[in-house]
Amino acid sequence: MISKVISQEKISQVEDFLDKYDKIVIVTHVSPDGDAIGSALGLCHYLTDLGNDVTVIVPNSFPNFLRWLKGAKDILIYEKYAEFANKLIAEADLIFCLDFNILKRIGDMGLSVEASKAKKVLIDHHPDPANFCDVTISYPQISSTSELIFRLICRMGDFEQMSKESADAIYTGMMTDTGGFSYNSNNPEIYYIIGELLKKGINKDQIYSNVYHSYTEDRFRMMGYALSEKMKVFHDCKSALITLTKEEQQRFKAQKGDTEGFANLPLNIKDIVFSAFMREDEGMIKLSFRSQGDFPCNTFSSQYFNGGGHLNAAGGEFFGSMQDAIDRFEKALPKFIEVFDKIN
Ligand code: 5GP
Ligand code: MN
Repeated sequence: MISKVISQEKISQVEDFLDKYDKIVIVTHVSPDGDAIGSALGLCHYLTDLGNDVTVIVPNSFPNFLRWLKGAKDILIYEKYAEFANKLIAEADLIFCLDFNILKRIGDMGLSVEASKAKKVLIDHHPDPANFCDVTISYPQISSTSELIFRLICRMGDFEQMSKESADAIYTGMMTDTGGFSYNSNNPEIYYIIGELLKKGINKDQIYSNVYHSYTEDRFRMMGYALSEKMKVFHDCKSALITLTKEEQQRFKAQKGDTEGFANLPLNIKDIVFSAFMREDEGMIKLSFRSQGDFPCNTFSSQYFNGGGHLNAAGGEFFGSMQDAIDRFEKALPKFIEVFDKIN
């Protein structure tokens, strides 16, 4: 048995909505990651099996290493089909908002979601959720939204009905949001849940391979280049920074998602506890932060890079040149020197 986590009141409210409504849209955040897609498809399969009409809509495209998941090819990309997506969002009677805590995180789609008369349910694990849904299921102590989807389905008494495809998606989200169970993953209940998912027939070794052993040769060479040529280490601050300009990404024919995981790489170095990755994107620099121990990536990001996220994994944006972003980062680091000194 696992602890309840989600309050009974919230479970009952979701059950009530599911009794009343069957035109359902599931939305998740920009640049959807494994947990965004995993939680969305995990919930989508479950709701579809119950007989609902369900569409998953994401703001923009998602990485290739998630395309093997059943239902991935039916995910609607807002950026490409905004008109159709807006119609579905407007006509839905229930919208699930997964893996984000504020409408800004879903880009232009946020306006349509806000305007829709549908009932809205937030399921998320980021701190400080905004109040834009009728039911807010937010538990930052839980390491993935996908785990919350598992907990929700079980609490509604439907573990038996959960399909292998739903279990595949949920496991993928749990695995990717914990770096293959290497951080944020000390809660014993995670492993109980994995046991339950294995009973559904998932092949966890195959899922690991599908997600992590999926590099193209170009992507692998770009990683080598980033590590040998573009990584700066700040030993005094136990930190490191990797940067890649647009031109460098183009040189390696980088596709969407090809730099996923680069932010984690410097943490492989002994004594490095904080790692940043800056990628030049359309009109801005996209940042990813990762840390070990108590270094607060989310505080660092919100103070200096207009972002947020979790303690050990956060992201942000910088509008300006790569060099200005680097300067800002290097100036900010020493302000945290006392925090770095306390971490072993
Ligand atoms: P990633 O580095 O994988 O893009 O994001 C890591 C975490 O930071 C995710 O949980 C994500 O929700 C959060 N995050 C990423 N980018 C942003 C951003 O621009 N703003 C905010 N508030 N959070 C972000
Ligand atoms: Mn997540």
